[in-house]
Amino acid sequence: MPEPMLKFSVTCPNCALESVSEMPIALIANALLTGKAIRLRAQCHDEYWTATIGEREQIRSALREIRVDMPTATLRTHAERAMKSQTAP
Ligand SMILES: [Zn+2]
Repeated sequence: MPEPMLKFSVTCPNCALESVSEMPIALIANALLTGKAIRLRAQCHDEYWTATIGEREQIRSALREIRVDMPTATLRTHAERAMKSQTAP
């Protein structure tokens, strides 16, 4: 089964161009829960940066929207797996 992904728009810090970014839902959910940094990427400048509080809020609401059609158990399974793979050496 492919990993469920979340699509959200990001604004490039270099040129303010908006592009659509895609990240695994488990990774995002985990980062939001634990307060970890979320790395964003702009396609136009191939640039990575850490999501600001405002951007985290945007991602959080995007996540809330899609959670409606996803069983919570599925999401939890993916989040747990992501947490395990992160703590592994
Ligand atoms: Zn750019």
